[in-house]
Amino acid sequence: MEVNDLIRRDLMDSPAYHPSQPCGGVKLDTNESPWGLPDKIRQKLIHWLEDEENLNRYPDSDNTALKGAIAKFWDVRPENVTCGVGSDQLIDVICKMFIEPGDAVVTQKPTFGMYAVSAVLNRGRAATAPVGYDVSAAEAIVNAAALEKAKIIFLCVPNNPTGRGMSEEGVRFVLENARSVVVIDEAYGEFSGRSSVSLIKKYPNMIVLRTFSKAFGLAGARVGYALADGALVKIIDTAKPPFNLPVISQLLALWAMENAGEFTARAKQMAGARDRLYETLHKLDWLDVELSESNFLYIRSERDVAAVLERGGVSARNFGKSGNEYRVRVSIGSDEENKKVSDLLCGAYPK
Ligand code: PMP
Repeated sequence: MEVNDLIRRDLMDSPAYHPSQPCGGVKLDTNESPWGLPDKIRQKLIHWLEDEENLNRYPDSDNTALKGAIAKFWDVRPENVTCGVGSDQLIDVICKMFIEPGDAVVTQKPTFGMYAVSAVLNRGRAATAPVGYDVSAAEAIVNAAALEKAKIIFLCVPNNPTGRGMSEEGVRFVLENARSVVVIDEAYGEFSGRSSVSLIKKYPNMIVLRTFSKAFGLAGARVGYALADGALVKIIDTAKPPFNLPVISQLLALWAMENAGEFTARAKQMAGARDRLYETLHKLDWLDVELSESNFLYIRSERDVAAVLERGGVSARNFGKSGNEYRVRVSIGSDEENKKVSDLLCGAYPK
């Protein structure tokens, strides 16, 4: 017997998804926070380990305390919230619940790769509409979804990797006109300062995804959450594995939520640093940098930007070359790290 003979035929040649292969040095390739745990939270964790540690028990499968804190923050009910091992797990679970073999999901291109990966792993397929941010781009998504009879539209707002997000009018257009489940992924929402969460009260087919991995600096704890109409949350929960979130991850996310103000202030600081780096890079005539509402910048050039950064000891997300154009996404880091990026790119091709 050969194991290869037993693999699903459609996945035989699928490569594993590797988020990024950093070259070492300054790590600006996965849009993490450059800052560690605030001391207050670190102390809480230490006390918990000293006084209350009970890792011999399974965690609360319903994430009751964490969902309560998230619901309070967003002014919704706990029934409107569900948590996942990163929003990655929620993307997968949503695909599991809606995709029948061959069904399409619609995304913009380029966008976050896991929508297509999860669709395919769940026997679906991904169709795309061109990336754009206005009502005409929204119309293109709705039309593509209608043509493909798509079960799910994934809209990344702001969009990874391009940095900008669909306008509020565009989001509303999609919600008003789509006949699919509409997932608005707001992984970078804290850096844009806008959100569609309040609309879940109006649209029963809408899911908003948020994560603790970016602005809340907890990428290592792997916690994401979805907000939606209660009936839709029940559907998502049907495919969610039991005990998915480890005790420590639930606690860290709960404490982070209780200190949300501090993380929101950090996100604002990051947004300021992002705008300053944008202004500097925008003046360089050998590259094009996109306006961003996120904690990263998307750069295109006929020259190999990633190689310039890599030679200077900075890992960025390299999307390779398309036509004549190299494309790279660089995360906003600490002031020192941003200065390094700025110095490398400003010094690379002096006039
Ligand atoms: N959505 C987007 C747009 C992302 O960029 C990422 C991470 N890169 C995720 C979701 C997944 O985040 P996590 O699983 O860490 O919550």
